[in-house]
Amino acid sequence: MLKPLFNLIYPKICYACGDAIQGKREHICISCVANLSFLKMQDFKNNPIQQLFLGRVHFEKATAFAKFENNGRLQNLLHALKYKGVKEVGTTLGELAALDIGTTRFFDDIDILLPVPIHDKKRKKRGYNQSQYIAEGIRNITELPIDSTSIRKEVHTKSQTRKQRYERFENATKTFTLLDKDKLRDHHILLIDDVITTGSTLEACASALLKIRNVRLSLLTIAATY
Ligand SMILES: [Zn+2]
Repeated sequence: MLKPLFNLIYPKICYACGDAIQGKREHICISCVANLSFLKMQDFKNNPIQQLFLGRVHFEKATAFAKFENNGRLQNLLHALKYKGVKEVGTTLGELAALDIGTTRFFDDIDILLPVPIHDKKRKKRGYNQSQYIAEGIRNITELPIDSTSIRKEVHTKSQTRKQRYERFENATKTFTLLDKDKLRDHHILLIDDVITTGSTLEACASALLKIRNVRLSLLTIAATY
């Protein structure tokens, strides 16, 4: 009874365009959903994301939901998710992505969703891992379980020799540690991340997971620049 009045005083805002949202929809208005640049990468084994990882790490399937454009709707949504504390935007984006990609049977042979961890310092500052909320949105649609505890991102501050520092610079800040190998053994894991750029963090995370016996990996990100 009181909800319409509440919405009149405090209208729900679309985090993509800033307009008030009418009706039941949350976080993204219907017009902004319709105007996202859907990537529709139907060929999951040969697309720009797969090509980015060629010779680096093997993903069974890889896809991204929508194109990241500067000053675009998706950039505004990801900004709200990562820097304004609106974690529910991640859940909404995860649901939209799962509904769109799910029509292709992408999820059929996936066993578990794994949000790419961010390191503790960052998580404490932000209060949460944004990819966890994206994964929860995907779970709402696919009913696949989420694993958020088997792998951790470390930041190494130990002093290194000059040679090591030179050779390992790229990986030094992107080290992932497996905490539970047994849980993921024999699983097809879907890595979940918000945006893909160089792929170096995903590569480091995937490399750690591929040390587990009989693991297969796939990848889904909300945004990509392709
Ligand atoms: Zn909007």
